Amino acid sequence: MQRTLAIVKPDAVANKNVGEIVSRIEREGFRIVGMRLVNLSRREAEGFYAVHRDKPFFNDLTAFMSSGPAVVLCLEAEDAISKWRTVMGATNPENADEGTLRKQFATNIERNAVHGSDAPETAAVEIAYFFKGVELV
Ligand code: GDP
Repeated sequence: MQRTLAIVKPDAVANKNVGEIVSRIEREGFRIVGMRLVNLSRREAEGFYAVHRDKPFFNDLTAFMSSGPAVVLCLEAEDAISKWRTVMGATNPENADEGTLRKQFATNIERNAVHGSDAPETAAVEIAYFFKGVELV
């Protein structure tokens, strides 16, 4: 079993898509081991996306991620990291396959509805960024 961090980003929360996305998570067979509504400060968003610090979109991205509430989830499944990335679809919704969450809910490459960790090492760091051990069931 593997764990990954998922985020329902502020665009999807504002568009009232939390229910549909959490429903999809359950239907896909993930076990939700942590779930919380957060309102990231700019500094917290910058810390979360620190690897993108030097990218031209860093300012826009961190402004967006701190623009309103988001839902953070820790998901567990076999191969949870790649499984969740498949359900999310490509970063740019224009390239996302039919049936993926980003195809269904994303507005553009930045406001793309959901986040998922990309490797075991980053998943461990990202999960710990939002959840204490005792908060995961
Ligand atoms: P992910 O792993 O699919 O989320 O993609 P990345 O790690 O490459 O990028 C992190 C997040 O930054 C994406 O989910 C988008 O919200 C945003 N992002 C990525 N590329 C771009 C871009 O070219 N322009 C803008 N404005 N945002 C981007």
